[in-house]
Formats: sequence, C-alpha cells, structure tokens
Amino acid sequence: MFEPSESQRLIRETARNYAQGSLTRIASELDREARFPAAQLGELAELGLMGINVPEAYGGAAAGAVAHALAMKEIAQGCASTAVTMGVNNMVAETICRFGTDAQKKRYVPEITSGRFVAASFALSEAQSGSDAGALRTTARRDGSGFVLNGSKQWITSGDRAGVLIVWARTEQSAAKPAKGISAFLVEGGAKGLHAGRHEDKMGLRASSTVPLTLEDVRVPATALLGNVGDGFRIALSALDGGRIGIASQAIGIASAALEESLQYAKDRRTFGQPIANHQAIRFMLADVATELEAARLLVLRAAAFKEAERPFTREASMAKVFATEKANHACDVAVQIHGGYGYVSEFAAERHYRDVRVTTIYEGTSEVQRFVIAREALK
Ligand SMILES: Cc1cc2nc3c(=O)[nH]c(=O)nc-3n(C[C@H](O)[C@H](O)[C@H](O)COP(=O)(O)OP(=O)(O)OC[C@H]3O[C@@H](n4cnc5c(N)ncnc54)[C@H](O)[C@@H]3O)c2cc1C
Repeated sequence: MFEPSESQRLIRETARNYAQGSLTRIASELDREARFPAAQLGELAELGLMGINVPEAYGGAAAGAVAHALAMKEIAQGCASTAVTMGVNNMVAETICRFGTDAQKKRYVPEITSGRFVAASFALSEAQSGSDAGALRTTARRDGSGFVLNGSKQWITSGDRAGVLIVWARTEQSAAKPAKGISAFLVEGGAKGLHAGRHEDKMGLRASSTVPLTLEDVRVPATALLGNVGDGFRIALSALDGGRIGIASQAIGIASAALEESLQYAKDRRTFGQPIANHQAIRFMLADVATELEAARLLVLRAAAFKEAERPFTREASMAKVFATEKANHACDVAVQIHGGYGYVSEFAAERHYRDVRVTTIYEGTSEVQRFVIAREALK
C-alpha cells in the first residue's frame, strides 16, 4: 500500500485543492478559446508547484519525484493543458539543476520556480526526427569562445512563451554514432535569430502552446553549454525518463476525471426504466477502468520511488508510461461510450478528455518507443 509522507500529502492536497477549485471550472473555456493558461501557471508557481523536485536554494519545494507525480495527476485532472505546461517547466528546472553549473542554476531556475518565467521549453524534436532524436540536424558551430546555432525544431511546448529553452544541436558530425555529436544549450527566450512559428492547431491540449522554432545564427556564449560538449543525448534521455513519469501521471489525471464523470453520468442517466449504472455492460466497463487506473497509479508511483531513491528507473518509467497512457486512452474512450451521444459533444467534458488524452501515447516517447526500451532492458 502507498502511504504518502507528510510533504507528499501537502503537495498533493495543494494541487488537488487548486485543480478542483478554479482550474476545473475554467478548463473547458481555456480549451474552447485555445487560451494559454498564463494566469493559472502564475498561480501554480505561487503554490510552489513549478519546482517540486528542485532544491529549495533555487526556489523549489525539494519534495521529490513521488510528490511531482502526485501533483501532475491532480493538475491534469483539472486541466490537461495546464498540466503539460507545468510538467515541462518542472522538467526543464530539474534538468538544469542536475546538469547545470552553479551560475546556470542561479540564473534560470529561480525564474522558473517563481513564475517570473511563465514557461520553459525542451527543444529536442525536429520535423524529421522525433522518435529518432539522435538524428537531429540543428547545428552548433564554434565561433570564438561561443557557439552559433542554426536549424529548426518542431512541436515545442511553450516554445513562444519560454524564458529559457534547452536546445539540442549537433556539435559534431559522426556518421557512425550520430547521437554522440549532440550537445545541449540554454537559449534565452527572445534571443536574436530565434523565431517561433504558427501555433499548431491541435486535436487536444488546445490551451497549451505547441510551435515550431527556427534558429538563424543564434549566438550563445560558451557558458550556455549545458554539461559538456557531446553530453547532449545523455542529458536528453535522462530528462525524458523523468518526463515519462510526468506524462504517465498526466494521463492518469485526465482518465480519473473521465472516470468520475462516467460514474456520475451512469447514476444520472436512465434507460429502460433504470439508471444505466444498473446495466451490467456499463458496470463492467467502469470496473475495468477503475482497476486499470489503480494498476497504472501503482506503476507510476513505483517508477517515481525508484527515481527518488536514485536507483536506475528507465525500465520502470517506460513501463509506467506505456501502461498508464494506454489505459488512460481506454478510460476516456469508455467515458465517451457511457455518455452515449452526449459524449460526442462539447457540452460534457468527456469529449475534451478524449481529445486531450490522445497525445499521451505519442509525446515523451511513443508507446512503440517505450516497448522498445522495455524489451531492450529485458533482453540485457
Ligand atoms: C502536443 C505535442 C507536444 C510536444 N512537445 C514536445 C516538446 O516540448 N519538445 C520536444 O522536443 N518534442 C515535443 N513533441 C514531439 C514528440 O515527442 C514527438 O512527436 C514524438 O516523439 C514522436 O515523434 P514523431 O512525431 O517524429 O513520430 P515518428 O518518430 O516519425 O514516429 C511515427 C510512428 O512510427 C513509430 N516508430 C518510429 N520509430 C519506430 C521504431 N524504431 N520501431 C517501431 N515503431 C517506430 C512511432 O512509434 C510512431 O507510431 C511534442 C509532440 C506533440 C504532438
């Protein structure tokens, strides 16, 4: 059985109170208007949720990876778009804390945790390289003591809003081992030559911002390098392991909202003279979803606990992500089914959950990539 510690409980309750209060009420409006949740993100920063697993010295809550997973689930239950933006902010802050110099940590992390930067970005994917991130083409050429970045990025969450972006670029061409020649850089929002393109017109998460970026002769000093030259791919993979726990938690949050609404609707809606909750077909659907989400929750907590204990957790994070996101997709599909025709229109939230949850088996590594990782670990 999982019993949260005092600090984990506090973080979870803080997130839950905020999500069930104002966030749930505004989520459908944010979605309908595709409005970036800037005010909500500021409030989350005030509540200490923008650096949950970040040391207090940099404005974080130092509450650990389990607390982060618990908070992500709660916020996603209120608004999935706000949750993904919060998740990326936390991931960038953590990655800078883990791999950055003292100066980098002092310069950027308090800006993120305090909300002075409304967002931060993780700019890895490119139009031709998502799953195969090691094949990225953006280049970083040495120029005097610094670097000049050129190329383009695709699908960057908050790319037009970020105060700081971690940008991956190739510092060396190596045909034999392309991932070896990649380095990571801290690029400031508004840097000369950094341009955000048009917002993607997405199926779901419509209040989050997803944009392509172009980098045209973006000059950064040597001090912008995160880690060492050639460390970039290792940094990305390490950050993604943690990010996968966050997305698994997000999926469970969306699915939990869908399940709660399904339960309520099943009690309210009557057919053939009784609530549909009395029909065995509906009860079995609800039972399966409740069981699957409970199992997913335990896998996610296990992966987060491994991370917190500083044990290897790549396999655990991939298992949690593939299982939680696929079961969450099932939960949201069932929610639409239980709502009948009303599940297909925006009057009920089931329709939004169905759209929001779909991307969770795609970003932060597709289900196929997670299975590839799990099989690789199993075959070792
Ligand atoms: C809303 C949204 C937000 C995002 N935010 C960010 C972000 O902030 N930062 C960022 O860097 N990226 C971000 N991404 C990008 C995301 O991580 C990629 O879309 C994802 O990794 C998949 O890459 P791809 O789209 O290029 O698909 P591809 O890699 O082209 O994959 C296409 C299909 O082929 C399958 N496939 C690929 N290779 C294999 C293989 N070896 N074996 C079996 N199947 C395979 C995939 O699983 C998938 O089904 C975001 C994407 C979306 C949609």
